[in-house]
Amino acid sequence: MDTERIRRVVIAGGGTAGWMAAAALGKLIGKNLDITLVESDAIGTVGVGEATIPTLHVFHQLLGLKESEVMAATNATFKLGINFENWRVPGEDYLHSFGFLGKDCWACGFQHFWLKGLEQGIEYPIGDYCKEHLAAREHRFAVLPDQDRNHAYHLDATLYAKFLRKFAESHGVKRVEGKIEDVRLNADTGFIEGLQLDSGQVIEGDLFVDCTGFRGLLIEGALHTGYEDWTHWLPCDRAMAVQTESTRPAVPFTRAIAHESGWQWQIPLQNRVGNGLVYCSRYLDDEQARELLLGNIEGELLNEPRIIPFRTGTRRQHWNKNCVAVGLSSGFIEPMESTSIHLIQRNIVRMMQLFPSRGIVQADIDEFNAQTVREMENIRDFIILHYNVTDRTDSKFWRYCRSMPIPDSLAHRLEMFRESGVVFKFPPELFGESSWLQVMLGQGLMPERYHPIVDLMGDEELKSFLDNIRKGVRRQVDNLPDHRQFIDHYCKAMPA
Ligand code: FAD
Repeated sequence: MDTERIRRVVIAGGGTAGWMAAAALGKLIGKNLDITLVESDAIGTVGVGEATIPTLHVFHQLLGLKESEVMAATNATFKLGINFENWRVPGEDYLHSFGFLGKDCWACGFQHFWLKGLEQGIEYPIGDYCKEHLAAREHRFAVLPDQDRNHAYHLDATLYAKFLRKFAESHGVKRVEGKIEDVRLNADTGFIEGLQLDSGQVIEGDLFVDCTGFRGLLIEGALHTGYEDWTHWLPCDRAMAVQTESTRPAVPFTRAIAHESGWQWQIPLQNRVGNGLVYCSRYLDDEQARELLLGNIEGELLNEPRIIPFRTGTRRQHWNKNCVAVGLSSGFIEPMESTSIHLIQRNIVRMMQLFPSRGIVQADIDEFNAQTVREMENIRDFIILHYNVTDRTDSKFWRYCRSMPIPDSLAHRLEMFRESGVVFKFPPELFGESSWLQVMLGQGLMPERYHPIVDLMGDEELKSFLDNIRKGVRRQVDNLPDHRQFIDHYCKAMPA
């Protein structure tokens, strides 16, 4: 244990991760700390990462940020889920919405009632039993005081970092511009002592937060923490990103469109659309990727397509000595379910919960790392599900994905669902039963039987149970305005 008091916190990097960390530390525990963020305009940020999930809400609430203000400042739109197109077979799609499906009972989930309903000829899609799902399909949305709806945002990543920077600086965070050229380590402990900038200035600290992106300058470059590679399960290793002008009103969901050797995202903001292709370089080269991407987007290009190489996996420790990795420096699971910003937020909150005010304690480090691994593995398995459970055999890429070995933890989940329709969630996991259910069904995995407790309900009772949920969902959605109209009223961005 290092009993030195932690007073000086240095955040290296000013992308989404750096400024989220600075905003949270500054506002929530910054009073007794001296917080400095170092970033280099010459290096810039990764510039993508614009689709979020509902947990971002909680982060904003914690900071006391007003939703409409964040949205107006970042050209944001609402997001109720992700529409997966061509994933099971070309030409079919399904929506993974953020809502809960129907009503569970103590013994089993709603899917068991829905499955029996199907057998009885009540053949409504499972999404009809979920308000977020139906609202997304009909492009409707509103924030209403008496109705909660699980929603997230599509936002401009650069503007978001800018917004958070202003907020963090107003809470005492100091920003230093400069390129980190060296990371100084204590010769005895191996702890980081300071960051040396190209100007010669040295920024000393007690705790360092590595937000330097894929480079991982501190956690890897200086501390050699190691990386666990997951590309055998998630073989895509490159992305190509480009922004286009909007050609139609923004829809309240992200589009994830599968292609022969990867998939394409479409993220609608108020003023433009973020597009990109995630692909596997073993099966598609950059020129083919460019052709494919440009052939499948609408609207004038606003910038040149940019290639972003990546390696899916996780840092072996997310907290090592006096350095905590947050953001891309800590690992990367590809962006299909928009989970990176969520993981940033989780590492920041966890770091504050286990904040080493009285010195670095190995037990805190171990707990931090164990929790992070559990969360990342749950997300990893969920993403692999989309690739592995598919009927696609039309390319080498999909044939590989269908037949690749998968983690035992995922194989167990799939087997349970296939055999008995059971879906479960361990408390700290991000993706809950409704998410697993929508994606497993959407990818074509159908349970062989439903839970016998459903048979305790008579046929008429089951019918009215299902009818009532569906009608309730329909009533709520019918009362919602059009998504775009609501944005104009609630959080319209000012022209730049
Ligand atoms: P970066 O944005 O790369 O920032 C790194 C910072 O470190 C910069 O400020 C840079 O100046 C600084 N820096 C680096 N080296 C030095 C140096 N030597 N000296 C000084 N400063 C330095 N996440 C989501 O949640 N949703 C999505 O839809 C999503 N889509 C994605 C799509 C792709 C293709 C990729 C690759 C990622 C996506 N992500 C997504 C992840 C998301 O982009 C990141 O989690 C997020 O942007 C945070 O990045 P970062 O701050 O860790 O790194």
